[in-house]
Amino acid sequence: MTYTCDVCGKDFERGDGRLRGGHAWCSGCWGVADLRDALEANLSPEAVAAIAGLLDPYTESVEQPVGGQVAWFRDQLIEMLGGKDEYWRIWTQLTVQ
Ligand SMILES: [Zn+2]
Repeated sequence: MTYTCDVCGKDFERGDGRLRGGHAWCSGCWGVADLRDALEANLSPEAVAAIAGLLDPYTESVEQPVGGQVAWFRDQLIEMLGGKDEYWRIWTQLTVQ
């Protein structure tokens, strides 16, 4: 059975990558899994949502390729939360007072 890398889209065999929680990373993209581990160990879901929300305006206002790279990081954070719906739920709770 082959798996498709979440980050680069490359197909890989089970032994050549890392699988966890419905995610798959090829050997070239393991660093992303390590980054997520470090963020998850140190940040609450609310903090992850806050950072993603604060990055959002920069993804379009900043010149490319920087805006696209910031968008990539924001999307990693949103995926850590389980997707856009959960991100919006937490972000709305944080920002509507
Ligand atoms: Zn990859």
